[in-house]
Amino acid sequence: MTAVTADEDLKALADKASVELADATALEALEWTAGTFGNDFIVASNMQDAVLIDLATRVKSDVDVLFLQTGYHFAETIGTRDAVETVYPDVRIVDAQAAQSVAEQDAEYGPKLYERDPNQCCFLRKVVPLRNTLANYKAWVTGVRRVDAPTRANTPIVTWDERNGLVKVNPIAPWTDEEFRAYIDSRGILENPLVSEGYLSIGCAPCTAKVAPGADPRSGRWAGKSKTECGLHG
Ligand code: SF4
Repeated sequence: MTAVTADEDLKALADKASVELADATALEALEWTAGTFGNDFIVASNMQDAVLIDLATRVKSDVDVLFLQTGYHFAETIGTRDAVETVYPDVRIVDAQAAQSVAEQDAEYGPKLYERDPNQCCFLRKVVPLRNTLANYKAWVTGVRRVDAPTRANTPIVTWDERNGLVKVNPIAPWTDEEFRAYIDSRGILENPLVSEGYLSIGCAPCTAKVAPGADPRSGRWAGKSKTECGLHG
């Protein structure tokens, strides 16, 4: 079977599941993912919390978890990543790294590329490492929710990720903020300590600010710039 045929098969699978699982619960979507792809799927996490990881381990305790090691994370985010390994000992965390260290990037492009050209910085440190890691899988699972942003309002539970060439599953796409918080509280889910300090959408430290009470959670990402997305979910 050629790679193109495999991709066509996967796309057809995604299109069919997109209809059949349009109203699936998070666990139903994850059960379908584990049943369909076995070891060939990975769960992405920015280590803001372990909600998606917890859900995934309920259907596959040794699930692979993708973490983008950008080199710019808060210490608390790295600490949360390490805590996930302790709380979920069967999980395998896959650290996706850029080709260049931050020092090497600074030497080639100049320091603080994130201030001058955040799109290029995100491309080098997030988009490319993500694509390279996803090339090893047939599906990935994300924590994107429709309430995150207007650009995410129509996020399906299952879709075909054209850019990366694999199936994309968004099990908690329909969850409201209240449902999300209730899951954390009811199961005592691990959470990045920065959340309680007012960081409601956590990315790299230079590009993440606290969010004013009542403001859009993602307003703290690339504050003061027109950029609103890393380019991972476009
Ligand atoms: S979020 Fe900021 S520091 Fe992180 S990769 Fe993007 S531009 Fe660079």
